[in-house]
Amino acid sequence: SEAELIRAQRFESLAMLAGGLSHDLRNLLQPLLLAGDSLQDYQDDPRLARLGKLVRDCGKRGLDMVHSMLSFARGARRAEQVRLGALFSAFGLLMQGSVPRAVSMELVIDDPELSFEGNHTELQQCLLNLCLNAIQAMPDGGHLRVEAAQTSLSADFFLPEQQPRPGRYLCISVIDDGPGMDQAVLDQIFEPFFTTKEGGTGLGLLSCKRIVDSHGGVMRVDSEPGRGTRFDLYFPLEQPVADGDRLDDGDNLEGAA
Ligand code: ADP
Repeated sequence: SEAELIRAQRFESLAMLAGGLSHDLRNLLQPLLLAGDSLQDYQDDPRLARLGKLVRDCGKRGLDMVHSMLSFARGARRAEQVRLGALFSAFGLLMQGSVPRAVSMELVIDDPELSFEGNHTELQQCLLNLCLNAIQAMPDGGHLRVEAAQTSLSADFFLPEQQPRPGRYLCISVIDDGPGMDQAVLDQIFEPFFTTKEGGTGLGLLSCKRIVDSHGGVMRVDSEPGRGTRFDLYFPLEQPVADGDRLDDGDNLEGAA
C-alpha cells in the first residue's frame, strides 16, 4: 500500500543516515577509546586515570549506541516470494495519477508467474524512484518503459571490483527517452545528496542501489545526452544470495552509505 511505501522510504533514508553516521562515529570514537585506555593506565596521576576512565566509559557507551542504531536499521527487512505479475500490477496502480498526460508509460513482462526472493515494498520503492526520476527528466513528455525478462549473466558481466556471480537473473529495466546524462553527472548519481534538481534529495538512486544490493542483485545504468537513460536491475533467480550482500549483514549498511 502507499502508506507502507512511504514508511519504507522513510526507513530507507533513516537506514542510510544511520549507516553513514555510525561509520563516521565509529572512526571518531575508536581513537577516543584508545586515548581513554592509555590515560586510565596512567599510574602517576590518579586524576588523569579518573579522566581516562570517564573518556573510556563515554566512548564505550557511544559505540554501543552506534551498534544498536545499526541493528535497528537492519531489523525490519522481510524476505518473501515476490511474483512478477503481482509486483507489476501493484506498481501500475501505484503510478496511476503520477504519470503526466505527455508521458506514455508501458509495463511489459514476459512471465507474470515468475517469482523470486525479495521484498515487495522495497522493490516497489526502487521502481518508483526510477520512474519518478524518468518522469521528472521529461517535463515536455516522452516515453517510459518498464520491462522485465529473464536473462543469464556470465562471469565477465561483473565489474572487476564485484564478486562475479554468474547465473540466471531477472532483469527489470526502466527506460526513458529523456535528455540523458553526461559523464560528469553519471559519475555522481550514486553519491548521497547529489542532485541536479531544485528541491531534490539526491537519495533516490542511492536508495535504489542499496535495495538492489540487499537483494544480491546488480544495478547498471546506461545513459547518453540526447538519447535517454536506461537502468537495468538484475535480481538473482537461482543461486543463493551471497552473504555480504544481505541487508541484515552488518557491513553492507556502512559500505553503501
Ligand atoms: P533526486 O531525484 O532527488 O535528484 P536521485 O538520486 O534520484 O536524486 O537522482 C540524482 C540525479 O540523477 C538527478 O538529480 C538527475 O540529475 C539524475 N537522474 C536520475 N535519473 C535520471 C533520468 N532518468 N534521466 C536524467 N537524469 C537522471
